[in-house]
Formats: sequence, structure tokens, C-alpha cells
Amino acid sequence: MTDNKAALYKEIYKQLGIGEKIYQLGERAEAELEERFSQFDKTAEYNQLKVIHAMQVNKVNAECFQATSGYGYNDLGRKTLEKVYTTLFCGEDALVRPQITCGTHALALALSSNLRPGDELLSPVGKPYDTLEEVIGIRPSTGSLAEYGITYKQVDLLPDGSFDYEKIKKSIHDKTKLVTIQRSKGYQTRPSLSIAKIGELIAFIKSVKPEVICMVDNCYGEFVEEKEPLEVGADLMAGSLIKNPGGGLAPIGGYLVGKKSCIENAAYRLTSPGLGKEVGANLGILQSFYQGLFLAPHVVAGALKGAVLAAQLYKAAGFKVVPDNRESRHDIIQAVELGTREGMIAFCRGIQAAAAVDSYVVPEPWAMPGYDSDVIMAAGAFVQGSSIELSADGPIKPPFAVFFQGGLTYTHAKLGILKSMQNLADGGILKV
Ligand SMILES: *Cc1c(COP(=O)(O)O)cnc(C)c1O
Repeated sequence: MTDNKAALYKEIYKQLGIGEKIYQLGERAEAELEERFSQFDKTAEYNQLKVIHAMQVNKVNAECFQATSGYGYNDLGRKTLEKVYTTLFCGEDALVRPQITCGTHALALALSSNLRPGDELLSPVGKPYDTLEEVIGIRPSTGSLAEYGITYKQVDLLPDGSFDYEKIKKSIHDKTKLVTIQRSKGYQTRPSLSIAKIGELIAFIKSVKPEVICMVDNCYGEFVEEKEPLEVGADLMAGSLIKNPGGGLAPIGGYLVGKKSCIENAAYRLTSPGLGKEVGANLGILQSFYQGLFLAPHVVAGALKGAVLAAQLYKAAGFKVVPDNRESRHDIIQAVELGTREGMIAFCRGIQAAAAVDSYVVPEPWAMPGYDSDVIMAAGAFVQGSSIELSADGPIKPPFAVFFQGGLTYTHAKLGILKSMQNLADGGILKV
């Protein structure tokens, strides 16, 4: 950069509240990560081509973006989009709907439609995502699977994060109908699972009981690697459109892709027996689903760059980061252990202050329903609650870790991280 240009950059960062020292730290960390960044770009290239190919072979056209209302019979856009997801994720069929309200709904739908009273559900990767505890009935809840006589077994990961094959084998019996595998660690400290690891686990489970349905909770995992769960043996996978595959544009929605029979079960449950996939008007939002999917591989690459930049900077500043700055990535979540309540608050306020929407809002810890401690959240988003957009949150309790994710562009993620560091520095929590 010429001196003039460098001055210009320093100035614009200064306008956004980033001092020279923090700005320079960012530049240095970015230079150190050049090689990693180019790997993320390469993965995005592959996945972008995969998306374009899926759209081409299914003949996406402008008519697919037309609104339908009422029953939504013969909805070309909806049917074509489901074919695109089927091709892209290598399934036999898909359900991609604005009527699926979020990720939890998509997963609840997959489970409740493919399990029957008397069946057992197994999680061989430890405790599932918080909201699924109520779906399953681990925490008693109205309408849970437990209320319908569906039992649940769980095998925790071994202390080193590997699968407890012996216990898994013992836990699969004649009632075991479906195995749920969560790809992302979510808000836990266990490692996220690579596609290769998921493949090994599925192969083992199928060797014990071939007819068991293997489902993957794919939330936060889409487009992080070149392959997706169905390509390594999963029968069904589900996720949220206000995370990775919505590319930040989808304002709502969830998806399921997998075996024809699994999707059929889900469709009859989502709408009604007898109606299945044939109804469900799109209300005019399908262009955002298509365009968001088109952008998603590069949005995910930007989020991954933000995650490793955060890991690089916070590790250098002496904080524990999970995953480590050098570790391979299997989802877009980055945990930073700030170690104190003040640290968490300063971090989240920095992320919030870097937003384009609601930048002036000051996050405060609050007693959120369902949590046993106060929780702090930062999210200035175009789509409410969207976590493919730059966001951070965490429960205010030891080890005082914030979970940082998203950023529709890498630049925005970078600004958020620098602003969080500036906040910590200004608060005397971080020495620069
Ligand atoms: C986000 C998430 C969910 C739930 O999705 P919501 O859209 O928040 O309901 C489930 N599982 C994992 C791993 C997630 O990250």
C-alpha cells in the first residue's frame, strides 16, 4: 500500500472507532492468515460451482421467483428449489419451505415424522443442541417425542472427543430406529465433526444395524467443506435457512434433504397426511432462497475467515480459543474464553457497535428463558436472529466464553473483531 492509501485506511477505521494499534494488529494477523484464507476461497469456489450446476441441471428460470398464494398447488418455484437442494446435497428428495420456521423446527419435523411410538432415538455424539432437549423430552416439554412414547438414548463422546464405539454398539438394539448426529458443536466445548468423521460413524452404525436411519443436524456446517453428510452415508439431514444455506438473504425457512421415504414422512407431517409436498404457497419470497443459496458458499467463506481472524488475534492476546487458530474448521462458530463477565460484555458490545443495523444499541446480560445463568447477545442483523450475520453470545458463567459467528462479508466480521478488541483495550482488559 502507498503511504497515502495507508493513511486513508487508518482514517476510515478511526472513524469507526478503531485506533491505530488495533488496526495494525488486524493487518498483521490478516497477513499471517493469507494461506488459510486462500483455502477457504478454494472451498467456496468448489461449492459455488456445485450450486450453479444444481441450478442449471434443474433449469431454474425467472418464473421460479413468482409468488403463489392459497394452497400453492403446482408451485414451480417451490418444486424447482427442492430439486436444486436434492441435486446439490446428493439426496433423493428435499423439503425446503418458508413454513419450516427455524432449525429446531426442521429437526423436530425430521424426528417426529420418522419415529413412531415404541421407537428409540440414539445420539452417539453426546448431548444435542439445547432446543432439541425439549423436542426429545430430555427436559419435559409439551408435545415432546417422549410424550408420544419415543424413548431416547445418549452415548457421550470420550474425553479426547472420539466416538465411544463400544458403548454405541451396545446401545443399538431392535427398537433403535433413528440416530441423530450433530455436526457442529453448537454451544458446547466438544470438537465439531468433520465430514470424514461423520462418515466413519455412520459406516460403523450401519455395520451394526443397516436399516437404522442416520440423520445429521447440519446447522452451521453447510459449505464449510466440499462434501455434505449425504455424500458419506447419511439418510437425512436438516438445517436452517437463516444460517449458512440462506446466504443471509432468506428471511425465514428450513430444509430437509435425504432418502425419499424420509422426506415423504416429513412432508406428510409438515402439512397433512394425504397432502404432503403438494401444498405450501411460497408467498413471493423464493427469489431470496435461490439468491441466498447462490451467495452462500462465499458468505460462509467470509464467516470462516472472520472466525480464524478472531482465533488468531485473541490467541495472540493470551485468551483460550476453540477451535485453535491452526485447527481445521468444520463449522463457522468460534469460541473465545474471555475469563470474566466484563470481558464478555466488552466483547459483545464491540460486535454490536460494528453492526450496520442497531449499532447504537448496548447489549446487557439478561435472564433468558431456558438458561440457568444470565446470557449476553450481540446481533445487529437485517434478519432478526440470523446467525449467519455477525453475532456473538454466551452464558455469563465460567469459563466466560463468547461464541462468535457469521458476517455476511469478511470485512464486516473483521470490523466486529477489531471493535471487540478495541473495547477490551479501552476497558483495560487487554494490553496492547
Ligand atoms: C442453530 C442450531 C439449531 C437450532 O436452530 P434454530 O434455527 O436456532 O432453531 C440446532 N442445532 C444446531 C447445531 C444449531 O447450531
